[in-house]
Amino acid sequence: MAKIGINIATGSLQQAEMIVGIDLGTTHSLVAIIHPESKQATALSEHDASTLVPSVVHFDPAGNAEVGEAAKAYLESDPANTIFSAKRLMGKSYNDLKAQAEYFTYKVIDDQSEALVKVQVGNRFYSPIELSSLVLKELKNRAEHILKTPVSKAVITVPAYFNDAQRQATRDAGKLAGLDVLRIINEPTAASLAYGIGVKKDQDQTVAVYDLGGGTFDVSILHINDGIFEVMSTHGDTYLGGDDMDRAILEYWQADQGLVWEDAAALGGLRLLAEAAKKALGMADTFSVNWQEKTLTITREAFEQAIQPLVDRTLASCAQALQDAGLKAEALDAVIMVGGSTRVPLVKKAVSAFFGKPVNDALNPDEVVALGAAIQADILAGNNKELLLLDITPLSLGIETMGGLMEVLVPRNAKIPSQAAKQYTTQKDGQSGIRISVYQGERDLVVHNRKLAEFNLTGIPGMPAGMPKVEISFMINADGILNVRAKELRSGVSQQIEVKPQYGLTDAEVEAMLMDSITHAKDDMATRALVEARTEGEQLLSVTENFIAKNHGLLTPQEMTDTAQALQNLQMALTMDNKDLIREKAEALNEITRPFAERAMDQAVGGALKGKAI
Ligand code: ADP
Ligand code: MG
Repeated sequence: MAKIGINIATGSLQQAEMIVGIDLGTTHSLVAIIHPESKQATALSEHDASTLVPSVVHFDPAGNAEVGEAAKAYLESDPANTIFSAKRLMGKSYNDLKAQAEYFTYKVIDDQSEALVKVQVGNRFYSPIELSSLVLKELKNRAEHILKTPVSKAVITVPAYFNDAQRQATRDAGKLAGLDVLRIINEPTAASLAYGIGVKKDQDQTVAVYDLGGGTFDVSILHINDGIFEVMSTHGDTYLGGDDMDRAILEYWQADQGLVWEDAAALGGLRLLAEAAKKALGMADTFSVNWQEKTLTITREAFEQAIQPLVDRTLASCAQALQDAGLKAEALDAVIMVGGSTRVPLVKKAVSAFFGKPVNDALNPDEVVALGAAIQADILAGNNKELLLLDITPLSLGIETMGGLMEVLVPRNAKIPSQAAKQYTTQKDGQSGIRISVYQGERDLVVHNRKLAEFNLTGIPGMPAGMPKVEISFMINADGILNVRAKELRSGVSQQIEVKPQYGLTDAEVEAMLMDSITHAKDDMATRALVEARTEGEQLLSVTENFIAKNHGLLTPQEMTDTAQALQNLQMALTMDNKDLIREKAEALNEITRPFAERAMDQAVGGALKGKAI
């Protein structure tokens, strides 16, 4: 059942719009949705064939673009005006691509080597973002045609190894195509979701996702816990894929059967024959075809021999990925096959032997990524209550301050995006590092909350305690991603980390955490008061001791004795769970030392007493 909404302005009923999942691939792209009746992730299809759209754009002399099968037909006959693999150009400068210049049969422009590349077609220039947007626009049109409803919201997938610039470029391409890109997700994450891994809470799984497409290969090791997908490692070869298998067949025909061809158009046709041979050999033991008075033949055995080196290279990447993740193959719960080229029986056999377990190949390998994107889209649409994805923070976010207290920076129910910052200082003279621990929850002590991340701000130049100004800022973006930054403002030293706070908590868990905070409110308040008193007492103790050590010349013998006594009293009080006693002894010590501080006007003491340390 689709959701029904009421337009407040007009009072009319309207159907909530469907959010689609898009796999924007290097060679093929496609759209999937959660079928409104069956509730199953389904690739959009026309005439019962799934709509795999070749990611190819052809421009006619007037500059009109055609996308998909029609454009692919021009690959050999009009290479200068036919753009394939635009995904490889996303977020890249010419310097990034120099080594592969030969691969592109169209003109990639390098007017400023560090600037982002553009493609020249005739006298027009296109950015990779524009080119990808043309593919997305085509997908959007086809989806609207099939669904008979406007489509303007999407989840788009990208390889796990895409950097920020490449992700942003993908998002921009979506925008340009008239799509509101609700989220960019990793292809291996989408593939796992399609296999139901990570869809339910309480799942703790480690999986390998092996993706062999048309021209690229990558393998990612993911750890999925409580709905959080962590990419532990990723490895691959961005110039290795099914096209290389086709080439291996052509080379075999050349070497073994005296195949020769005269021009590019002939080569184009031969490539298609080679691809057909590759696909046929998945079922048959031998393949034969007539071509210009010749019969070209290849057996499965010869094919497997020809591609064995390619397969071996993918296995070397798998070994590297495992090593980078610090895992042995036995530690994996599942191996997921993605990409059209994993249909090749030898690939399945070799991967399964390498990891020592059967591979997951029940789903269509060129659809799984789009299917997973559709599942993610459905979660975002709020149709899947198992997972929680929100536009407000369900729980407070903060950091641990001295004594294990929770200091909230972004309170619960804050709107996303959101940001907040607070200043802290150091506790000890010359302290060069500060540990920042990020927590989520409503309890006063961090031990009762959920730890999200931890990192160190290091390299703070030597300064007296209380001098450094450490600003901790929390920024939550529209994707619900929290960025925590710590910056020492005097020196500019900074460090930051990204966390995904709301992933993995269900409604019920959030509720339980909130209930806990209410049940324990009274105890928590008392504990917080005690911890605060103790922290302040300890700070005062160390600051005073420090001060005396440095400035004993300023004190009379009587003052020295009084101070020593007051210090001892406070020390005693700190060993007991009595906040009033601690406060009393701290106040007494303060009374005695106040005149010294005034005498010395020591900035460090003043600063340390005022500033709050972590
Ligand atoms: P990408 O993610 O790079 O867009 P795909 O996952 O769509 O790539 O994979 C495309 C590749 O899969 C092509 O090289 C194609 O020849 C190959 N392929 C598709 N079907 C089969 C098959 N039945 N057997 C072998 N290879 C196949
Ligand atoms: Mg792919």
